[in-house]
Amino acid sequence: MSNVQSGATGTRRPLGIMAALPQELGDLIDAMRAEASVRTVTHGRRDYHLGTVQGAPCVVTLARIGKVAAAATVSALIHAFDVEAVVFTGVAGGVGREVRIGDIVVADTLTQHDLDASPLFPCFEVPLLGIARFAADQALADELATATERFVAEEGHALAARFGTQLPQVHRGLIISGDQFVASATAVAALREALPDALAVEMEGAAIAQVCHEYGVPCAIVRTISDTADAHAPASFTSFLAEIAGAYSNGILKRFLQARV
Ligand code: SAH
Repeated sequence: MSNVQSGATGTRRPLGIMAALPQELGDLIDAMRAEASVRTVTHGRRDYHLGTVQGAPCVVTLARIGKVAAAATVSALIHAFDVEAVVFTGVAGGVGREVRIGDIVVADTLTQHDLDASPLFPCFEVPLLGIARFAADQALADELATATERFVAEEGHALAARFGTQLPQVHRGLIISGDQFVASATAVAALREALPDALAVEMEGAAIAQVCHEYGVPCAIVRTISDTADAHAPASFTSFLAEIAGAYSNGILKRFLQARV
């Protein structure tokens, strides 16, 4: 397959950074433009922004919403831009009972909660791959969690005061993904029953983790909780995305990328 752009300045392979929606990237692309020139390549209806953060090459893109969109986009990051690893940042619905709006979840594992080819294959297992839960890259997830903990320690109180949330807690564990925006008490109760250790629900992460697993590319996923996947979710998601998501992404990504240089 042709490589439309190696993306690397020098010989170092770039890091792929993804979100679903622009607010989830914060000011990252502007920060790259302030540092050096950014080149934008359009490929498969997505814009891929090639530049540097603190001198380190990055390719930044928006997947848009859902598992297919995420799988197609991460596949392009791997094949067309030769990324060495992938980091996804975004918002999610809280599912775990301890997980509240404004908290942050770093994935250890991810599963597709709407994948069920039973009785031919166990529920949640990807047919013919034999895996139901995909692991994030442990070292990359640790780096992301460390950056997130630092962000909360340094900015958590100010953030909570500014947005009227409680001091954010950082959680590690299972994130579940499916092609539904979960927005009812009944639906979230069913997810808790089926996957009792799930911390957060979203629409892209497990698809990215599957593609990265199949190509042997490390990935890590961080999600800020915008809603609790119940009847209040549409309003909570919308205002969180508009007002707060960018501040979290900026704070987490800045520290994560600084620590990698
Ligand atoms: N109405 C919105 C659609 C948002 S879909 C729009 O038109 O832009 C929700 C996005 O946030 C997805 O990318 C998903 O990954 C994440 N998300 C946040 N809360 C969620 C929830 N309760 N259920 C599923 N995904 C959620």
